[in-house]
Amino acid sequence: MLIILEKYNYSEALKIIEERLQSLKLYYKMYEEDEKKIIVVGDKGQTAELDSLQSLPGVERIVAVTKPYKLVSRQFKETDTIVNIGGVPIGGGHFQVIAGPCAVESKQQLFTVAQEVKNAGAVLLRGGAYKPRTSPYSFQGLKEEGLKLLAQARELTGLPIVTEVVDIRDVSQVAYYADMLQIGARNMQNYHLLQEVARTNKPILLKRGLSATIEEWLLAAEYILREGNNQVVLCERGIRTFEPYTRNTLDLSAVAAVRHLSHLPVIVDPSHGTGKWFLVGPLAKAACPLGAHGLIIEVHNCPSEALSDGEQSLTPHNFQVLMKDIRELKRVCGKS
Ligand code: PEP
Ligand code: MN
Repeated sequence: MLIILEKYNYSEALKIIEERLQSLKLYYKMYEEDEKKIIVVGDKGQTAELDSLQSLPGVERIVAVTKPYKLVSRQFKETDTIVNIGGVPIGGGHFQVIAGPCAVESKQQLFTVAQEVKNAGAVLLRGGAYKPRTSPYSFQGLKEEGLKLLAQARELTGLPIVTEVVDIRDVSQVAYYADMLQIGARNMQNYHLLQEVARTNKPILLKRGLSATIEEWLLAAEYILREGNNQVVLCERGIRTFEPYTRNTLDLSAVAAVRHLSHLPVIVDPSHGTGKWFLVGPLAKAACPLGAHGLIIEVHNCPSEALSDGEQSLTPHNFQVLMKDIRELKRVCGKS
């Protein structure tokens, strides 16, 4: 349930509401939007006990949200949220492509790929400086040196940068360089990290956990919105199923479901979703007609020598070919 207070003269109502919520042992949190105070109540449908609050002077309206996630839900906000990443809008009628290498490996590699993806039509540059690798013996990323290279690549191309933060201790450093902070699949349920990135007020790319349900994913997003940051883009990147042929099973039905359940933009990652470069194009082309708001695609200048995720990376040439089709699909789907 969401109790939306009037802009002025709400303090008396607030006192009564807080007493009522405390006596009902309901957990709640204050949230502010457009200078209006909103009380988010973690209720499980005990609306009858709270209905009478509607008539209190100072209460503008009460929105009964039946889902466990509240601020993220379309019941709370009907219209699509548009997230602004360094001037690039994602959400609503926009369909945007984020591209770049899995990991920042060197200046030469990053600058080459950045220029290529820009020429092909990508509007945001991705690249991991901190890499969460399955094996501790794999390349772990260039860390701050990688962030500096990303910032230089932004200078060179004008593309805002998206990069992952894996540890709560690195949040302020990554936020200093990046235009958008990525929370990876492995950290989707790292709630302290979610709260910390939310407080930077940077846009957040929230990947779905490898075994997360849609509800768990949206509740993870709720952690960010509750901190007052509604600049969240969801990313479907495949879930683990019994099928070993593809690295993950890209759950496109989740994209359509999330569009129904939430006002937040949702994009598709066909690279991690399939793990195979030749499947990236076919899945990427499904995203726009499906209603997704964009794509994130891994591109490498020499995939066979990539330090991470080479098997799923497109060459600049293949990316360029795909982008031609994506442009056509955007036109047919009426997206900008
Ligand atoms: C990545 O984007 O390179 C990455 C590690 O993604 P995910 O968290 O989806 O595995
Ligand atoms: Mn990767």
